[in-house]
Amino acid sequence: MLEIKGLTKTYDNGVKALNNVNLSISKGMFGLLGPNGAGKSSLMRTIATLQQPDSGSIVFNGIDVLKDPQALRKTLGYLPQDFSVYPRISAFDLLDHLAVLKGFTEKKQRKELVEGLLAHTNLFQHKDKAVSGFSGGMRQRFGIAQALLGNPDLLIVDEPTAGLDPEERNRFHNLLVSLGEEKVIILSTHIVDDVAELCPAMAVLSGGQILLQGNPLDLIQQV
Ligand code: ADP
Ligand code: ADP
Repeated sequence: MLEIKGLTKTYDNGVKALNNVNLSISKGMFGLLGPNGAGKSSLMRTIATLQQPDSGSIVFNGIDVLKDPQALRKTLGYLPQDFSVYPRISAFDLLDHLAVLKGFTEKKQRKELVEGLLAHTNLFQHKDKAVSGFSGGMRQRFGIAQALLGNPDLLIVDEPTAGLDPEERNRFHNLLVSLGEEKVIILSTHIVDDVAELCPAMAVLSGGQILLQGNPLDLIQQV
């Protein structure tokens, strides 16, 4: 359960990107819908402890995120909007290296973990290829594999399907659905159909404020 109260964020240039945001998000897939500039990335980065808000509170499963960012990071998977590091080393080696950084010290256990994640994201057959040569959809799925390394309870995915063709988008959607109901998964997007297809709960953000929150089918009937 993620509880956000009174979250406000003003950048150095005076832009108020978040204005008293209140959200209650339970397990399963939650869609955060809003046009470009609405504040979606600002909200995602703030929840992911990459930037500090002016005021407000964020509590995840009892963790006071703003007071104890380290505790949140242990259980967070974050796929940023501008996920853009595509090294020339193989997918397997890169994930293996990241797993070492996450504290998986036992080589055999790591191999199982990494191969499992690559299989789950439909990348096993590409495990020896360089990530720099991956297509957009493969990169996004690799990003999810990377975000899942520590088996996080909170997964934040920021604008994942922008620029993907319909087949890659479907594949990505199936991957998200396969992650199951045990995590809080926040999908931030400006694509209404993505939310309608995938999310039993959603909110609409515009101008830094939550305009609506609820079930997509109910909300569509209100419009
Ligand atoms: P800092 O807050 O550390 O000075 P910046 O504000 O310069 O950092 O930039 C942080 C990130 O936000 C960078 O990736 C930058 O490209 C992006 N960014 C900066 N200004 C804007 C803006 N007006 N709209 C969207 N993104 C921005
Ligand atoms: P979205 O993800 O919905 O497109 P953002 O959170 O990126 O929205 O941006 C919200 C507002 O904050 C925009 O007006 C944007 O230009 C501004 N903004 C975003 N990041 C920065 C930054 N680092 N510095 C200054 N302004 C920013």
